[in-house]
Amino acid sequence: MRQCLGCRTMKPKKELLRIVRGADNAISLDLRGKASGRGAYVCAGSSECLKRAVKSKAIQRALDTAVPDSVFDDLAQEIAKGAGVNE
Ligand SMILES: [Zn+2]
Repeated sequence: MRQCLGCRTMKPKKELLRIVRGADNAISLDLRGKASGRGAYVCAGSSECLKRAVKSKAIQRALDTAVPDSVFDDLAQEIAKGAGVNE
């Protein structure tokens, strides 16, 4: 179980999207949930959670670094597609 940074609800990993900061400090989406590094999670099924997490800078805090807008764009796209749900 991991916590969504938008709604602060604990959920199984498969219901969440993972953003990971890799060893090279690059920020990326970890759609398979297997990449090593520091991770942050938001609900895969809710664009509202992403918006909240962005607004509160919770993802930046969790990863302890700045997050490029392109990563948030990718997240929004994955949420729109319903990624992470029903896997
Ligand atoms: Zn959430």
